[in-house]
Amino acid sequence: MIISSTERVPLEKCPALVLNADFRPLSYYPLSLWCWQDAVKSVFLNRVSIVSNYERKVRSPSYEMNLPSVIALKSYIKQSEQPSFTRFNVFLRDKFTCQYCGDKKDLTFDHLLAKSKGGVTDWENVVTACSTCNVKKGGRLYAYSGMKLFRKPFRPTVDDLHQNGRNFPPNFLHESWMDYLYWDVELLP
Ligand SMILES: [Zn+2]
Repeated sequence: MIISSTERVPLEKCPALVLNADFRPLSYYPLSLWCWQDAVKSVFLNRVSIVSNYERKVRSPSYEMNLPSVIALKSYIKQSEQPSFTRFNVFLRDKFTCQYCGDKKDLTFDHLLAKSKGGVTDWENVVTACSTCNVKKGGRLYAYSGMKLFRKPFRPTVDDLHQNGRNFPPNFLHESWMDYLYWDVELLP
């Protein structure tokens, strides 16, 4: 859902997309968003530049301003090359698809080497699985389960996740964010 600007949008629905000083989002997953209060505060503290605004205004007796919809940090924050290991990011790596049967419903996680057998919870040992496949495999070792993975789990790069993220955009996307999130979207077939 892409929200266009209107005066009636409640303030809580006006977060600012935060860009690094190089005008790329500070983070994609989760998307770097600040609530309007933090965005306005950082503008007054001169820590960010306003790149784009909502039509929604905030007023006080002494000033009036449009809420920022996109802001960019004035000083560059060095980015981590490694995406964080989160439930969402594992689903995103696996495109929200059971890696055994391809189902997209009732998703959970499967440890290739079960936790009860000393398996760790990390990128290489955890895959997205539907509940049915998860139960079917149970605590068996992957090698002896007779089940076949579409793809062995791996540690993704930020680019891998961003690539997959195009297919699973967040629920709320303001039109002014598009240039910064999906600037090359028209190049894709
Ligand atoms: Zn499945």
